[in-house]
Amino acid sequence: MSFTNASATPLTEVYLRLWDNYHGSCPSTPITVSNVTGGTAGSLEVGCTALKVTLPSALNQGQSGSIGFDLSIVVPSGIDRFGRDGSYNFLGNALPVLAVRDGSGWHLDPYTNNGESFYTLAGDFKVTLDHPSSISVPATGTSVDTPGSSGRTVTTATAAKVRDFAWAAGPFSLVSGTSPNGVKINVYRVSSIGSSSANSMLSTAKSAVDAHSGRFGAFPYGEVDVVLDNGYWFGGMEYPGFVLDLVSSTALAHELAHQWWYGIVGDDEYTSPWLDEAFADYSTDLYQGLSGSGCWSNVSWASSAEKITNSMAYWDAHSSRYSTVVYGYGKCALHDLRRLIGTTAMTNLLRTYAQSHWYGVSTTAEFKAAAQAATSTDLTSFWTQHRIDG
Ligand SMILES: [Zn+2]
Repeated sequence: MSFTNASATPLTEVYLRLWDNYHGSCPSTPITVSNVTGGTAGSLEVGCTALKVTLPSALNQGQSGSIGFDLSIVVPSGIDRFGRDGSYNFLGNALPVLAVRDGSGWHLDPYTNNGESFYTLAGDFKVTLDHPSSISVPATGTSVDTPGSSGRTVTTATAAKVRDFAWAAGPFSLVSGTSPNGVKINVYRVSSIGSSSANSMLSTAKSAVDAHSGRFGAFPYGEVDVVLDNGYWFGGMEYPGFVLDLVSSTALAHELAHQWWYGIVGDDEYTSPWLDEAFADYSTDLYQGLSGSGCWSNVSWASSAEKITNSMAYWDAHSSRYSTVVYGYGKCALHDLRRLIGTTAMTNLLRTYAQSHWYGVSTTAEFKAAAQAATSTDLTSFWTQHRIDG
């Protein structure tokens, strides 16, 4: 794992995020890092989800370093973003990723099962999966298969400028196609899902990826793998070039919108979940031709502290309101913003906002500034009314 210090502040350590240790009972963990080279490992922190590695010498701005380690992953039973449904394994967040250090220091937020805490920078991955030839391994990036030892296949997946790497492994059935704009879509399904459902989801994926590309900028990763299981306890879960989904066209359009909002345009998902969830839901409405007409008349705040822009720390304490406010009120606020500044200005805003943060990270303050720059209307009272702070 290689990294470069982009900051003027010397880098003396890095943190690995071992997110799936949330699914163990710390200190007994499903993700184990051992034999660290290139640095000195500390003790597990933040419920075993963070591991500090002290570097042998500080890296100054522009200097690069690298660490290595062995990794053991034990997938627990349970149809989850990290879990196992019979012989089907889902490995979201199983590979360690580097924590972010920014102007406010290290981000070592806890895992949240209500949503996401996954704040990472874009990076390049090369992952080699040596597996029985009878199973397939849908994964982030583009995969090339070569013969392995007897009865085995070696799949090499490469992905550039992505925030994470996820994969699945099992005897999935596959249907594939290419969108009119040239994005390869692979739809994998467990045995309890029929081919007509898979074909319907393939059709949705092709049209949704092209629709989102047309609005926000062309999908840059070439290929998306969709893994269907109707046993997930959530509607869907997004990873770069890889989504887990129920057979639901709305959920699939939403998860594919996350390729832009969270993936291409990154955000601190723990601090500002609305920056990816409200935007993904708004994008889904646009794809489905829904205008959110009159939606703000249904808004009813639970308290003066409740805001669209609250962090997952707040939503973990008020979990029954997370979806209603962040997704529902959040997308309605974006519909209202479009109604206030006009459809043309809103269309241009989302496109230029995506372009200016492409492979980077956005914040609520940066979105607000971009929106204000897109209109001559003073948005101060709009942000106040819609409880968009930051
Ligand atoms: Zn989402």
